[in-house]
Amino acid sequence: MLIKMTKRATQDEVAAVENKLHGWGYKTGKMVGEEITLIGVYGDITRLPTGEVQEMGGVESLIPISRAYKRAAQKGAPGNLIHQRVRVGEVEVGGDDITVIAGPCSVESEAQIMEAARIVKEAGGKVLRGGVVKYRSSPYSGWEGIGSRSDDALRNGLNLIVKAGRAFELPTVVEILDPGDVSLYEDLGVDCFQIGEPNAKNQALLNRLRDTPLPIIHKRGNSLDMEAYLLWVERVMALGKENVILCERGIMSANKYTRNTLDLGGVAAFHYQLSCLPIAIDASHGTGLRDLVHPMTLAGIMAGASIVLVECHPNPLIAKSDGFQGLFPEQLKHLVTACEQVWETRQRLAPLYVPSAVLERDYETRVIEDKRRFFGAR
Ligand code: PEP
Ligand code: MN
Repeated sequence: MLIKMTKRATQDEVAAVENKLHGWGYKTGKMVGEEITLIGVYGDITRLPTGEVQEMGGVESLIPISRAYKRAAQKGAPGNLIHQRVRVGEVEVGGDDITVIAGPCSVESEAQIMEAARIVKEAGGKVLRGGVVKYRSSPYSGWEGIGSRSDDALRNGLNLIVKAGRAFELPTVVEILDPGDVSLYEDLGVDCFQIGEPNAKNQALLNRLRDTPLPIIHKRGNSLDMEAYLLWVERVMALGKENVILCERGIMSANKYTRNTLDLGGVAAFHYQLSCLPIAIDASHGTGLRDLVHPMTLAGIMAGASIVLVECHPNPLIAKSDGFQGLFPEQLKHLVTACEQVWETRQRLAPLYVPSAVLERDYETRVIEDKRRFFGAR
């Protein structure tokens, strides 16, 4: 990180910034030019209280030198963002359209996943989701997914969701827990891997997934800050894989009312500043409350998501997992309609978003004159 001081920064202001950084344990190096001074900051930049530095006297801007994640990073400029499109089966996500990926938390039976697929199709969803082996927080929950008990059970569960997806022409997304199962998912026709929150930093799994041609939805770990999350995403991409989708599904916070806290500021930061990857918003796990899924999904789209990941069930009242957050079929239908309208609004409003970088130069040239006008300073 470089801290660029303003042309008028005093030596005392430069020293104050350096002392502050040293106090936080950073090493610094100074470059004093004819007109401006740059302070280089060395250490774990992810912990730097950038807001506080930005507020200090004489500081003009903070310039990240290079991001530790390169492939997942935003490659465009503020006024000209570059976003990658990813294919999930025949569906292109992250492009011109909003994509709703919907389905039950778990595949529970052939009749249930078939009916769920029909509901998703009729609502206007484009991709079917469903877990076959579930990651449960309690070992006594009694349900770890239809595919959890044996290799045959796993094969059967995967076959069921693939069959349902094909019957309704919906590509399928299924969570993968074990690196040893990657080839099986590929061979049985799953279209997209989901890396669940508990595996967001499972090194063996992420390393294994570098090789798959299938796209991946990599959910953010609920205690991963944004930089750390993007570094785990970078791990999957490190050898050249590109078809990766970010997913905000809520993080830990002081809000104990909702299951997790959807980090919508994080979604905006990923979209507008940090990453070229498409973003999915999962308000089902983000809120854990059926009746909050609708508004928070729409908020996620406005913040920058172009994919919606949402749980629904033919009858969520009897779902074997996460029923409390699963939408009723009617709710899904209305949500898809609302998502399309919000997406259309976002596209229409896009020209009204003016990044500061486009304006800053003009205002910089006026700083001396404006200080004189407003404060009488010389
Ligand atoms: C899921 O998608 O069903 C799931 C368990 O999600 P997460 O890993 O985000 O908790
Ligand atoms: Mn779930």
